Amino acid sequence: MIQKAEFVVSNNNPSNCPKPDRAEVAFIGRSNVGKSSLINMLTGKKELAKTSQKPGKTQLINHFKIDDRWYLVDLPGYGFAKVNVKVKEGWENMITTYLTKRENLCGVFVLIDSRLEPQKIDLDFLLWCGTNGVPAAIVFTKADKQSKSKTHQNIQKFLKKMNEIFEEIPDYLITSSETGQGKDDLEEFILDLVKE
Ligand code: GDP
Repeated sequence: MIQKAEFVVSNNNPSNCPKPDRAEVAFIGRSNVGKSSLINMLTGKKELAKTSQKPGKTQLINHFKIDDRWYLVDLPGYGFAKVNVKVKEGWENMITTYLTKRENLCGVFVLIDSRLEPQKIDLDFLLWCGTNGVPAAIVFTKADKQSKSKTHQNIQKFLKKMNEIFEEIPDYLITSSETGQGKDDLEEFILDLVKE
């Protein structure tokens, strides 16, 4: 279990990230997908990541140090309906630079809302990761919001779509920040990624 989670730094420039002296995993997804809630559940800290950030707010790369051993990174969400082109381009530039250049990055968790039909923006992002050698895994969120069979159905649909555009299906986990479903699996997955 995670014992210690501390905020380190927020910045909007990948070259200002902390020294890459420990393994790192990052979380990303559409805004409102449940990313902050998931990070808070995982670390057992209620307000480590700020929930429900408003569109247009400064978009930052947030580093947290976990158990003095690895970094957890909260990346700004994508898919705001109302951001202007400049903000969108700024996000793209920052995120693509971070994801392709960060040398200690061991895995990126792409969060997908398990209630929704497959969304193009998520499929596009995963395809981009796949074609750029970014090691992505999928976390289906909010599994408590509907029946198990509905969650399963939506996941199968998503994976089928994924399979149509890319030959490799990433690993995936199913979580709920409400019930704690998937917490142990996610932690185990991460510890496996960050171990020396
Ligand atoms: P973010 O914008 O991706 O950081 O999303 P948040 O973590 O702020 O969550 C957005 C909304 O979804 C909030 O109202 C959360 O309480 C809710 N939420 C997040 N995760 C879950 C979950 O697993 N189950 C349920 N029922 N609600 C969730």
